[in-house]
Amino acid sequence: MANIDLAECVSDKIQSLKAYEVEDSDCAIKLHANENPFSLPDELKPEFQNFIADIKLNRYPDPECGLLKQAISNKNQISAESLVIGNGSDELIQLILQVFCDAGDSFAFPDPTFGMYSIIGKGLGLTPHPFPLDENWDFDGDELLEFLTESNARVVFFSYPNNPTGNCYLASEIKKVIVGYRGIVVLDEAYYDFAQKTFYQDIKNHNNLIVLRSLSKIGLAALRVGYGMADPYIIGQINKIRLPYNSNTVSQEFAARLLQNFSGIESQIKLILQERDRLLEELSKFPSFKVFPSNSNFILFRVNDGSKNLFKHLMENGILVRNLGAHPRLKNCLRVTVGTPKENEIFLSELSKIGQ
Ligand SMILES: *Cc1c(COP(=O)(O)O)cnc(C)c1O
Repeated sequence: MANIDLAECVSDKIQSLKAYEVEDSDCAIKLHANENPFSLPDELKPEFQNFIADIKLNRYPDPECGLLKQAISNKNQISAESLVIGNGSDELIQLILQVFCDAGDSFAFPDPTFGMYSIIGKGLGLTPHPFPLDENWDFDGDELLEFLTESNARVVFFSYPNNPTGNCYLASEIKKVIVGYRGIVVLDEAYYDFAQKTFYQDIKNHNNLIVLRSLSKIGLAALRVGYGMADPYIIGQINKIRLPYNSNTVSQEFAARLLQNFSGIESQIKLILQERDRLLEELSKFPSFKVFPSNSNFILFRVNDGSKNLFKHLMENGILVRNLGAHPRLKNCLRVTVGTPKENEIFLSELSKIGQ
């Protein structure tokens, strides 16, 4: 019977990490993960069932993801050689850092932002350099450029719109960084479909730019589909280390079908945006909340007399939101994902019950 000291065996860089925490509870109303609250549009349901029945489960997936790349090309006017498919865009974040950084290297991001940049980077033995956002959750491009030089960062990540603050950074400042930085700029457009703002047209003029997209926030979170758009040279480097069958057949083929028949999802997005604006308005009526503007499908708000009780009250009543209070800049902040009209109604009525 072997009984060795396993903790001794684990690498130092992993030992010091904490796993990404996803609140898992049996709350009926899940407003914590920025998912699309609606199930598949009706017209896509038979499509899904039919193609599942015909899939060759005994064969490996298409390593080139040809069908899916074609569907993305048609939608975005970008050639297949400028595309890479990931098992979620999280995987692409990891591959990008692997391609552009050696152990010990630095990378950067405006902060607060998506927690996975830091977690993935640390897991690779890299040093994250958070650049503090100003009080409007924005930054000055020249100051960030200076910071990137001083921290010797090889890659900078922009979540655009930014999760969890909800805003899109000033495009002029991002542009300054793309043009002035001698490193890799990643525009993580996981919420593109809600903001409709993008930098992907800049790829052809700026070879240091990578744009990431995801289908997770618009209805296919279960299938883990993300993609990257960049100069073919960058795509070639990523392909050297990408595992050959990183994207499975079900995900590839169904994502392609969804992109080719997008109108049902578009209607859902429209409704989510209407509900987002309604939630923004209703939340602003609570005198003890500070509500931040949103270009996305979620809203950040600060609870002046403490977020803990509110979070707990919501949870006890079957509503899960994201508690962000652990970040020093987000003390007493909660993030709520826009749900279905009915879910939002229940959420708002629970808020009024505890008399905020
Ligand atoms: C949700 C999210 C992702 C991850 O998307 P997946 O495609 O599900 O891996 C990436 N970036 C940001 C900013 C996100 O909020």
